[in-house]
Order: sequence, then C-alpha cells, then structure tokens
Amino acid sequence: MPFSSLGLAAPLLKSIKEQGYQQPFPIQEQVIPAILAGKDVMGIARTGSGKTAGFALPILQQFQLKQQARNRYIKALVLVPTRELALQIANVFRSFSTYLTRPVKTLAVFGGVSINPQMMNMSGTEILVATPGRLLDLVDNNALKLDDLDVLVLDEADKMLNLGFEEEMDRILALLPTRRQTLLFSATLADDINGIREKVLREPVVINA
Ligand code: AMP
Repeated sequence: MPFSSLGLAAPLLKSIKEQGYQQPFPIQEQVIPAILAGKDVMGIARTGSGKTAGFALPILQQFQLKQQARNRYIKALVLVPTRELALQIANVFRSFSTYLTRPVKTLAVFGGVSINPQMMNMSGTEILVATPGRLLDLVDNNALKLDDLDVLVLDEADKMLNLGFEEEMDRILALLPTRRQTLLFSATLADDINGIREKVLREPVVINA
C-alpha cells in the first residue's frame, strides 16, 4: 500500500518522498487513517516501528484545516518521558512541516535546563512536545494555555509510568479539555497501561504492530 492511499495531503506526501520513505510501515498503514478519522488510538509499538511519523503526519494534516491558534494556546501536546525523545519527536514534526499551507511551529521543552528560553520560545507554538514535569512548570508560570487543545499524545507511556510520572500525568490530564482526540503509545500492555488507557481513551482503535 503506498503512502498516497492513506489519505494524506500533497504537502505531506512531498516531504515523505523527499525523506526517501518508499512504503508506510505496518503501524503507519493502520494508525494514519485512524487518526485522520478522528479516532482515539491505543498503539502498541516500540521505537523503530515508525510510530512517530505515524502520529506526526496525520496531526500535521489536521492543522491544514485549523485556524492559526491564539498566541500561547497549544493545539497538540505530545508527552514523553525523556529529553532525547522530546527533541527527536519535535524534529520529526518539523521535518514534515516544510510544505504545509501555513507554517506550524513545534517546540520541545524538558527539564534539566533553564526554563526562561523555553518560555520566550513559546510564542506562536501550536505543537508542544514536553516532559511532564517541565510542562507543569511552564503552566505554573503562565507560559502556555491548554484550554483549546485538540489532540493529546502520550508516547512511551509505559516508560513515563516506570519513571514515576503518574502524578504529573494526572495533574496534566485535569488541565485538558475532555473533548479531544487522544493517542496512547506503549511498547508493552502492562496492567498500569490498562489503568491509564481507561482514564484517557474513548472507544479507541487498538493497533498492535
Ligand atoms: P520511530 O519508531 O518513529 O522512532 O522511527 C524509526 C525510524 O524509521 C526513523 O529513523 C524514521 O525516520 C524511520 N521511518 C519511519 N517511517 C518510515 C518509512 N515508512 N520508511 C522508511 N523509514 C521510515
């Protein structure tokens, strides 16, 4: 199945081609149409499966239809366990943003570095990739608003739980609109994942690639 049959728009197909992707990976074949259809998704997938492009491409496509968000109103939030993953995912979003019909700014924020440059960089950001603790610090500093959020991604959710981020995740969930699309990715289906799955997902499409 070619990328062009998954429902992706021309500006994204152009970036995909430029990056030399020939065929979608199995998880992408399943997850891209589900996200474009507005479904919640439970994806069981490890690093290397291609899950990042699997969620970044349809999320970016949805931005083509959106008005530019008001300043500091985040439209898509990707929660991740580590700084490395935050940087990597933000780069994937940026790498597919080149030909979009309007510019969409993606920012990565994480702890262990000064918060001030991140606060200054928040202006115009619509897609935020964040570790949970730093996201809450930024919220406490009034650096961003989550009231207009359309889509939440919890990536490597099993690792976030293993690292003890459950309380932060609960605090963040309480700040988000309940009417939203939620995508949950985990390498495993441990019991604690089922707990969070019940909390955040509504009639999800379950994809095991
Ligand atoms: P991920 O699992 O999202 O970390 O992706 C693993 C690697 O696969 C990354 O280096 C991607 O650039 C690459 N990749 C993702 N999708 C494709 C594809 N359809 N064809 C070739 N490479 C891909």
